[in-house]
Amino acid sequence: MIQIFVDENACNGCGLCVKDCPMKVFEMVSGVSVPRRPENCMGCLSCHEICPAQALEHRGVVPSRRMYISSKVCSMLNRVI
Ligand code: SF4
Ligand code: SF4
Repeated sequence: MIQIFVDENACNGCGLCVKDCPMKVFEMVSGVSVPRRPENCMGCLSCHEICPAQALEHRGVVPSRRMYISSKVCSMLNRVI
């Protein structure tokens, strides 16, 4: 299982991870990103790559399973599946 950690001291509250995650894992709480639904994470590491503060850490990601699906594609798939 993937574990997600947010460095609360590093997070600048930009919200990019909340907006970018195709699986809606994060929510903003008091100006800091919180991984509310880590069980939904598919390990694409898109959030890790876009975080300007390098505040995110993922453990348990299997590199061969990395697959990025944009949030637009994901919402489209949710409508047709
Ligand atoms: S992208 Fe990084 S800095 Fe921005 S809210 Fe998410 S964890 Fe915080
Ligand atoms: S690795 Fe991908 S699915 Fe997991 S929290 Fe980050 S953006 Fe969301």
